[in-house]
Amino acid sequence: MKRAKPGDLRAVVEAIPGPLAQLLARDWPRGLPVAVNELIEQGLLGEQRTVEELAERIGRRWVAFGYENDLMDSLGKGVRTSLGVLEELVSPSKCWGNNLDCEDGIDRRTGDDCPRCVEQRAERRADREQPLAERPPTVEKPTPVPAPYVPEQRDDAVGINEEQRALAREVLRGRTRLPR
Ligand SMILES: [Zn+2]
Repeated sequence: MKRAKPGDLRAVVEAIPGPLAQLLARDWPRGLPVAVNELIEQGLLGEQRTVEELAERIGRRWVAFGYENDLMDSLGKGVRTSLGVLEELVSPSKCWGNNLDCEDGIDRRTGDDCPRCVEQRAERRADREQPLAERPPTVEKPTPVPAPYVPEQRDDAVGINEEQRALAREVLRGRTRLPR
């Protein structure tokens, strides 16, 4: 497998928000585990994001998921580990429709809602509203040309909510600067 440049890995690690970086340094005094590099490589090579895009994702999710406020509390109770939080910040965007350009529900090329996620949300709504007996039989969709990397399908329970999507939309359109 292709490896990411060490400088790129370091640059992404440097984007970790200060309070989390401190906790990680405390929990991993001899350096972060290899799993962190693998996760960042997945973003750089698998998802083909730039260092800047991954740094932006980390900063945006840090704000959107409200870690700044509740990180200390939850860590004290052993609910979350610093490494677990880092994984949530760096992990590939999960797209309901397997759109590689989908960044937490927003298409990074247009800054608009990911069309595949929109389709899926509409389908789910229609499914819920339609009584079971009236549903048409499922038709196999033609298989698309295989992409080198397919984002994981998002699980409803941990899906990005409208507020988080709105933040992603603003940031990806360059209107909001996240605090560093
Ligand atoms: Zn999507």
